Amino acid sequence: MSEQSRHKPPVVPKGLHGITATNSNTKISASRIRTATAPLQTERLPTANLGLNSERMRFVMVERLMAQGITNDRVLAAMQLVPRHAFVDGALASRAYDDAALPIGHSQTISQPWVVARMVSIASEVPGATRVLEVGTGCGYQAAVMAQVFSQVYSIERIRALYDMAREHLRALKLTRIRLNYGDGMVGLPTAAPFDAIVVAAAGLKIPQALMSQLAVGGVLIAPEGSGTQRLVKIQRTGASNWERQELEEVRFVPLKAGVQT
Ligand code: SAH
Repeated sequence: MSEQSRHKPPVVPKGLHGITATNSNTKISASRIRTATAPLQTERLPTANLGLNSERMRFVMVERLMAQGITNDRVLAAMQLVPRHAFVDGALASRAYDDAALPIGHSQTISQPWVVARMVSIASEVPGATRVLEVGTGCGYQAAVMAQVFSQVYSIERIRALYDMAREHLRALKLTRIRLNYGDGMVGLPTAAPFDAIVVAAAGLKIPQALMSQLAVGGVLIAPEGSGTQRLVKIQRTGASNWERQELEEVRFVPLKAGVQT
């Protein structure tokens, strides 16, 4: 038995939040993974004219994620559903399903699929998690994935042009429920706190205390930490003034910066 086939196939729920899956589950390979077809509105995006079969490419990406140890069905289903190519420049669309970070302008990148799947999986381990915050919206891809898993997604971006870009991407996919904010995510979003999970998409030397204090008790924060060598860190708030810290994989993220860029 291959490494991949030991994992359960992701079952894509019908009618995920904002993106509509059709009823026709398509058998793609050895009847292993049932997928819903891609949302119709993505076919109208300019990047959909490249002759690439994005559903098939996402299927290959999801198989790779399973081989890399991602097991959470809801996360795998979300990764199968959200069209990553719609979040990058048309010239990069054919590479959108590679396991790589890609440039999105302003010296920033869209996170690598494995990193997105890993962080959202950790966030989704919080029982009953509904209200979540992403720090570092970038192009909006991870927020779109999170919106398939959590009912209340907040995201904050410090670069105005990227905030505007993310809003356009999410609007094109009718994912207007996601609450996008322009501001410095190092101070969190006190008006919407507490959060069941906080996912930080940029690396700081230390995880900001403001974010830790905006976690609900029982909530989890996932963030890359470090400058040269970075590591994913998981912090669980175990009490009003108790946090437990766990260090995970080595990763590579763009820097977490204070203040905003107009
Ligand atoms: N979530 C994105 C990844 C974007 S890269 C994805 O889906 O792929 C990280 C983003 O974090 C960049 O856009 C960067 O501008 C932003 N960022 C860095 N420091 C920040 C801060 N203090 N507050 C908000 N966003 C920040």
